[in-house]
Amino acid sequence: MIAASRKGGIRKILIANRGEIAVRIIRTCRELGIATVAVYSDADRPALHVRMADEAYRIGPAPARESYLCGDRIIDVARKTSADAIHPGYGFLSENAAFAASCADAGLVFIGPPPAAMEAMGIKTRARERMAAAQVPVVPGSPGPVADEAEALRFAREIGFPVMLKAAAGGGGKGMRRVDRESDFQAAFGTARSETKSAFGDDRVYLEKYLDEPRHVEIQLFADGHGHTLWLGERECSVQRRHQKVIEETPSPVVDAEMRRRMGEVAVRAAQAVSYVGAGTVEFLVDARRNFYFLEMNTRLQVEHPITEWCTGLDLVRWQIDVANGGALPWTQEDVRPRGHAIEARVYAEDPARNYLPSPGRIQQLRVPSGPWVRDDGGVYCGFTVPMHYDPMISKLSVWAPDRAQAIERLRRALGEYLVRGITTNVRWLRRVLDHADFRSGRYDTDFLARRADELATVPDPALEETALLAAAAHAFARDEERARQLAAHRTPDSPAWKLAGRRSALSRGSWHR
Ligand code: ADP
Repeated sequence: MIAASRKGGIRKILIANRGEIAVRIIRTCRELGIATVAVYSDADRPALHVRMADEAYRIGPAPARESYLCGDRIIDVARKTSADAIHPGYGFLSENAAFAASCADAGLVFIGPPPAAMEAMGIKTRARERMAAAQVPVVPGSPGPVADEAEALRFAREIGFPVMLKAAAGGGGKGMRRVDRESDFQAAFGTARSETKSAFGDDRVYLEKYLDEPRHVEIQLFADGHGHTLWLGERECSVQRRHQKVIEETPSPVVDAEMRRRMGEVAVRAAQAVSYVGAGTVEFLVDARRNFYFLEMNTRLQVEHPITEWCTGLDLVRWQIDVANGGALPWTQEDVRPRGHAIEARVYAEDPARNYLPSPGRIQQLRVPSGPWVRDDGGVYCGFTVPMHYDPMISKLSVWAPDRAQAIERLRRALGEYLVRGITTNVRWLRRVLDHADFRSGRYDTDFLARRADELATVPDPALEETALLAAAAHAFARDEERARQLAAHRTPDSPAWKLAGRRSALSRGSWHR
C-alpha cells in the first residue's frame, strides 16, 4: 500500500477545531511535513492544540458561536497566514455545507466532501429519500417531515408502536423521543417539536419505527475524486448514553464476514448516490434479526476513527489530506483486510455519581496510560483548566489486541493506569461497563447502559481500594526514607502525632481516581 499522493499542493493547514481532534490532526500534519495553524477562543488560550501548532490565532470569546462557529473569522485567519487548506475536524463547522463553499470561494481546500454531498446528507429526511431512491434500506417511517400531529399519529399507527420522533435537522442525539404507546403520543409530539425548535431553530419532525433490540453499527468509507469508493470495515457503537456513543469496538460482535460485505456494499452505494469524496461514515441500525437499515451519513471524520486505524493500519487523516490534494486511493477493496480487535472508551470530565454532571476545572495531576497497543488521543495536560464551554471529553483511550477478550483486558488495564486529579472523570465507571456481563458476552444493544444503570452505578470498584493501598505503600516508603534521613541527622521523629499525620495523608490520597 504505497501512497501515490500528488507532490506540492497542501503545505499549510488551518485546523478549525479544538481539543483532542485538533491535536490528532496536527500530529499527522507534522509527520507529513505540513505546517499547522491553530485557532482558539479566549477559554482555550493555554490549550494543548494552541501549544502544539506552528502558529495560533485568537478568533473570539469562549462561546462557540462567537469563535469556533465563526466561519468568516476562521477563513480570514487562513488567508492572512497563507494556509492552503482547512481541516474542520468533527462537530463545529465540519458538516456545514455553506462553510465548505465559502472555503472554496476563498481559494482554500476544504478537507471534506463536496458541499453538495454534505447538503444531500445534512437534513435527515432528505437523506432518507435519496437513500430509498438508491435502493439503500432505510428504517421504516414517514417519508418526510410530518405536517402536524394528526398526520404523525396516522403514520405511528401504520408502522406500529413503539416509534421514534426525530428532528429532521437533528444531530448529537438531540430532539429524539421514543413513544411506546398511543396514549403518550400527544404529549411526546408537543415536547419533541419544542425541543427540536430550541435545539436546531427548525421544528420539523419525522417518525421512525423504534427498532427491536437496536444496535448501532456503522461503516467507515473512503472515496477519492477518481471514482474509487472503498469500505474499511465496521464499528459497533451500541454502548450509548442518551443516544451518545461511549465505548466503540471493531469488529462488531454481531457482524460476520457475509453481513460485513453486504453492509459495505450498501454503504458504498449510499456514498456514490451523492458523489461522495473523502472520509465518511454510513450509520446503520441493526435489529434483533440482524436486518440493517440506513440511519444517517456523517460527512466527516468520526470521533471513533482510531479503532478503524488500529485494525487497518491506515492513518485516516493522512488519507483525507491526500484525497483533498487530488490523490487517488492506491488500493482495491481486496487490499483492505482489517486485523484483530480494537476498542475505544471516551474519557469525560464528568461525574457519573451526580447524573454525569460535567466537571470542568484545573487538572492537578495527570498520568496517561501507555504500554503495548495502547493509544490515548488526549487534548489536555497537567495544569490545564478544562473549560466549561465545550464538550467535556478530555481524551479517547483505545487499544488493539489479536482478539476481543484480550482487547477488553488490555483496555481494562489501560483504564486502571489513568490517574486524573483535580477534576472528576468517568474512568472508573468505564471500567464497570467493560466488566459487565452484557458487554463481555457481546450481547448488548443501545438500551444496555440505561437498562443496567443501577448496577453500573453501585458495583464497588476494587481499583479504588487498590489505589488507596498503593498510596499508603508509597507513603510508608517515603516515611521510611525520611526516618532514615532524620536518624542520620541524630533526631527521633517517631512520635504518635507524626504517625497519625502520615496516615491521614495516605488516606486522603485514596480519593485519586483511576
Ligand atoms: P443523531 O444524529 O442525533 O446522533 P441518529 O439518527 O444517528 O441521531 O441516532 C442516534 C442513536 O439513537 C442511534 O445510534 C440509536 O441508538 C438511536 N436511534 C435512532 N433512531 C432509532 C430508531 N428508529 N430505533 C431505535 N433507536 C434509534
